[in-house]
Amino acid sequence: PTMRLDVVSIFPDYLAPLDLSLIGKARRDGLLDLRVHDLRDFAHDRHKSVDDTPYGGGAGMVMKPQPWAEALAAVAGSGAEGARPRLVVPGPGGAPFTQAMARELAAEPWLAFACGRYEGIDERVYEYAAQDLGLEVSVVSLGDYVLNGGEVAVLAIVEAVARLLPGVIGNAESLVEESHEDGLLEYPVFTKPASWESAPGVTRDVPTVLLSGDHGAIARWRHQQRLERTAARRPDLLHGSQAAPGSSASGAL
Ligand code: SAM
Repeated sequence: PTMRLDVVSIFPDYLAPLDLSLIGKARRDGLLDLRVHDLRDFAHDRHKSVDDTPYGGGAGMVMKPQPWAEALAAVAGSGAEGARPRLVVPGPGGAPFTQAMARELAAEPWLAFACGRYEGIDERVYEYAAQDLGLEVSVVSLGDYVLNGGEVAVLAIVEAVARLLPGVIGNAESLVEESHEDGLLEYPVFTKPASWESAPGVTRDVPTVLLSGDHGAIARWRHQQRLERTAARRPDLLHGSQAAPGSSASGAL
């Protein structure tokens, strides 16, 4: 099945990287139907203006409701009879984007993204999208920092979602053993040569257990590495982790 994605932005070129690499291939293979729309096509005044000064005062500009309403109505009405996209609006005040949310979004047949700029989009657009267009609206944050616009967030969200779709990543198993899939970070990885001469006379060796051929020992070592790495870098993940020490899942490997 093809997943449909619509992105509305005042900088459609910002989404050009979605032509590259695995996402680009998924589009060419028909796994992803990704359409980028220019918000300015829905602004009808002479200057195609999409922003204006904020009511109540304050710095910056706010995106006007009319172009957004028209753009979202056009997107929402362009699918099969009765079909509606789920609307994802990137914003620093949204729910944190996580691997679990990526999985949730990957289960949707159709997603639309509204890329804000300036101080954001007039609040009435959210209401209009939900009430008049009947869309489920999700405000999603990439993290606790501020970007200039939603485009970079959409690149990240689309990449995280698309790689979960069947056929996008060649080896589906590589999706399972990954950071954030089970609450622990990934173990360190190594490739050939086993002994690497990083400078004359200096060699750096791969941990010997990985060369042992003992799959049980390798699995135990990797699990230990995951625990240590998570404790060192992301101790917050260990609280409530399914794979924390002492929980039933910790014996799985
Ligand atoms: N005034 C807004 C606020 O404080 O919440 C910030 C607006 S920001 C300068 C402009 C746009 O960038 C937002 O509308 C949103 O689309 C995007 N953006 C900024 N930070 C983001 C984040 N952490 N996650 C997702 N989108 C973000």
